[in-house]
Amino acid sequence: MNIILFGPPGAGKGTQAEKLVSHFNIPHLSTGNIFRANIKQQTPLGKIVKAILDDGKLVPDETVVEIVADELKKNEYHEGVVLDGFPRTVKQAESLDQFFSGNGRGIDAFVTLTVPEEELINRILNRGQGRSDDTPEKIKTRLQVYHDETEPVLNHYKKQDLVKEIDGVGSVDEIFSRILEALD
Ligand code: AMP
Repeated sequence: MNIILFGPPGAGKGTQAEKLVSHFNIPHLSTGNIFRANIKQQTPLGKIVKAILDDGKLVPDETVVEIVADELKKNEYHEGVVLDGFPRTVKQAESLDQFFSGNGRGIDAFVTLTVPEEELINRILNRGQGRSDDTPEKIKTRLQVYHDETEPVLNHYKKQDLVKEIDGVGSVDEIFSRILEALD
């Protein structure tokens, strides 16, 4: 089962991805986590993307697409994946569609978490993960980038009739139950 978890920063994608991973026993692929791990380990990729993440901007499509395609080719993802934070542009979505159809695979569900903007900002400021992009100024940039570049991905998958819109306000377990119900 291939699931995409989608939504603005602070919507709870990472948290719900972890719950889906343990429920369905399929691996989690978070592009944000990959970038943060590379930055921490000061790899060549980490050095390239650090300033971009710090600014709250997007890593270039070609870089992200290559990383995700390399990951998805690994055996561990052949039975399924929970994609979190990817695709984030229509170009990335088109590349993912192409990759999957070229490999006889497909997206089963595109789950989008809806949360009012005010709550998103509060959640990010309160999550206390010490992320360099979790500051008021960077959150503003990330939300703008989300509206300008990422939100159109929603329409791309609406056209394919894959979108499950989930109310992302409530307790973690409440939201997870809504997701399971929508996937049923
Ligand atoms: P996230 O952990 O998903 O909030 O991602 C943190 C940051 O990593 C984003 O603000 C971007 O700078 C970068 N990033 C993660 N995923 C992508 C993606 N699919 N395309 C471009 N940049 C990404």
